[in-house]
Amino acid sequence: MMIVMRKDAEPADVQYIVDKLTEAGADGHVSSGDVVTVIGVIGDREVISVLPLEAYPGVDKVLPILRPFKLVSREFRNSDSTVRVRDKVLGAGNFALIAGPCSVENREQAISAARFVSDSGATMLRGGAFKPRTSPYAFQGLGVEALEILAEAREVTGLPIVTEVMDVRHLAEVAEVADVLQVGARNMHNFHLLSAVGEVGLPVLLKRGMSATIDEFLMAAEYIVKEGNDQVILCERGIRTFETATRNTLDIAAIPVIKHLSHLPIIVDPSHAAGKVDLVEPLSLAAVAAGADGLLIEAHPTPESALVDGGQSLNPEQFRHTAGKIADLVRWTGKVMA
Ligand code: PEP
Ligand code: MN
Repeated sequence: MMIVMRKDAEPADVQYIVDKLTEAGADGHVSSGDVVTVIGVIGDREVISVLPLEAYPGVDKVLPILRPFKLVSREFRNSDSTVRVRDKVLGAGNFALIAGPCSVENREQAISAARFVSDSGATMLRGGAFKPRTSPYAFQGLGVEALEILAEAREVTGLPIVTEVMDVRHLAEVAEVADVLQVGARNMHNFHLLSAVGEVGLPVLLKRGMSATIDEFLMAAEYIVKEGNDQVILCERGIRTFETATRNTLDIAAIPVIKHLSHLPIIVDPSHAAGKVDLVEPLSLAAVAAGADGLLIEAHPTPESALVDGGQSLNPEQFRHTAGKIADLVRWTGKVMA
């Protein structure tokens, strides 16, 4: 349920309603827009239905929200949300180019990657410290040592750091270094982790599970926002289909569909969708054209010797070329690289 306040409603009216909801055992999430303030009501239907919401001071109308997700829905907030990461902004016309190696392998590799992606126009650095690997025998990431290297890469380039947290047990140490916490595709259904990252308050980059519907994806985001953290970036990274020519099938339609359903920004990871270096540029451009708010691209100084995902990682020259085309198309869509 959603309470839309009148234009002339006072902050005290909003507070009065939030207090009444809390007293009744429900929650009121306030979203103050330029024109009107909206209170999202979350809680037991039975409890809420006995409250005289329409009679409260400053209330314009009370609307039901029919979708399972509420706080992330367009009904709750009509305007596009922005996510702030240090001095960067993502969403509502601000485009982010997030790039870096799948995994931090050593200091030299990570700093070199940070430098070349920065020189070619990346706005954030992504590097994996804890890696979700299909095989327990494969390289699992350098862990805490990688976090220290990422902090150094930020010093060198000034780029904010995006890195994955796989487990609630690592959350405190990852959050100490990360500017954005990535929740990977395999953890999209890990509801304890989603709530825990919501509580930290850092921006979260949430990847779509490889078999998740868009409703399930948005419900996962709802877990994070419900904790009071609306700084969530959605990431479409390809889903599993019968097609074997690509690592996953990039669901381009998810971009406009999600834009219609949710106010949260959505970016695209063409690297994991494609699994092949040659497909990264065309899929990146398709994502920009379809309205994505950013891209997450894997790049490596020497992909041929990468420990993880070398086959889909752009080398410095390829990244420079692709980043240039992306920047041109972003400009054409009227967005700014920010
Ligand atoms: C990654 O970003 O390196 C990764 C493992 O991605 P995903 O969770 O989308 O598979
Ligand atoms: Mn990867």
